[in-house]
Amino acid sequence: MATESMLENARVNFDRAAATLGGVYDAELLRKLRFPKERSELRLTPQLSDGNVHVFTAYIVHHNNSLGPCKGGIRMSPSVTLDDITALAMEMTWKCALIGVPFGGGKSGIVADPRQLTPDDKQTLIRNFTRNAHRHINPLVYIPAPDMGTNEQDMGHIKDTIAYSNGHATTQGCYVTGKPVLLGGIPGRGKATGRGVAIASDAAMKHIGADLKGAPVIVQGFGNVGAVTCAELAARGARIVGVSDIAEAVYDERGLDVDRLMAYARSNGSLKGCGQGRVVSPEGLLEMACVLLVPAATGNQITAENAGKIQARVVAEGANGPTTPDADAILHKRNVFVIPDILCNAGGVFVSYLEYTQETQQEQMTEEDVKSRLEKRMRDKFKLVVGTAEKQRLSTRDASMHLALESVCAATVARGNLP
Ligand code: GLU
Repeated sequence: MATESMLENARVNFDRAAATLGGVYDAELLRKLRFPKERSELRLTPQLSDGNVHVFTAYIVHHNNSLGPCKGGIRMSPSVTLDDITALAMEMTWKCALIGVPFGGGKSGIVADPRQLTPDDKQTLIRNFTRNAHRHINPLVYIPAPDMGTNEQDMGHIKDTIAYSNGHATTQGCYVTGKPVLLGGIPGRGKATGRGVAIASDAAMKHIGADLKGAPVIVQGFGNVGAVTCAELAARGARIVGVSDIAEAVYDERGLDVDRLMAYARSNGSLKGCGQGRVVSPEGLLEMACVLLVPAATGNQITAENAGKIQARVVAEGANGPTTPDADAILHKRNVFVIPDILCNAGGVFVSYLEYTQETQQEQMTEEDVKSRLEKRMRDKFKLVVGTAEKQRLSTRDASMHLALESVCAATVARGNLP
């Protein structure tokens, strides 16, 4: 049953995948995975530049750590809830398992609007969050990263706060990924999610016998994931016909100039007034003519209401949870090929893993190394998912979840049970 709750949707997806395991694993083990291991609510009270103390709420969820320390980004948004963070932490467990990195799933949320904070106030808030969340953040416990509303610079501030609290110049091991390269980050992390979406999209287009070259593409969302996906798809010859962000949606069947859109968004803060294509309604954009549709904005965008009207043959989920379970069933019935989020946008966490190992081993990888490892991993996992879907007659989402659940269950059994 579709609902607007990300957590309900995550549980519906989980229950369907659990049923595909055919009773191989104990029901209680599966019940354990349905719930998070730990959920915390923190109160942050930084003094901001107006001289006043401000009260913010933050959440940290550790969903599961059978495969390794919890991994997942920090979402900063005025509307984020503890249940959203729980759903996103759960998705991280499956994403890490599917893409084959030794991490569990976690997520953080800070209830604040990053666009209403000055850079200094955002830094203060991030440092305050880090101090209050210190006991949760550790290379062996939970390693955060950027997510909606946070970025590379914020991750640099997190690392600095931890190093500073210990009186050290740096940290021993990787406490946070997605940092600036100069602070132990990895080249290509910023582009990794969008690059991964483009690689998976290319593989999906080939799989359905379509050519990405010249194919009309619509991308919803023009943040880090959406904008990089546009650029990467355009570089592979696709024709970006529609894009949107929170302020504007534009469409031009002849194709939009992605470089100019990126430059415009950088200097104006959004696509509002970008002057390319014709302005359309943001909801309408999803239903316009294209072969590949990339929802890369936020959750619950493709619902039972509009799934029947989507014209794309491939939906590549750049965002987490953009399709509700009801919409999923409609797309599957209509033979629309869906690249599920836990596969499609896993390039980010895969490269986070490379950053983690690089920092542990105190090595420096080149962007070329990172790119080729990402390309291979995305293609290998795409093949695995499609093969499993065909063999077991599952949707691509159920096949991805099936594979992920199988490895989390196997790791849990391998660990055994401590009292
Ligand atoms: N926030 C990203 C995601 O949802 C990246 C997580 C990470 O690298 O830990 O996948």
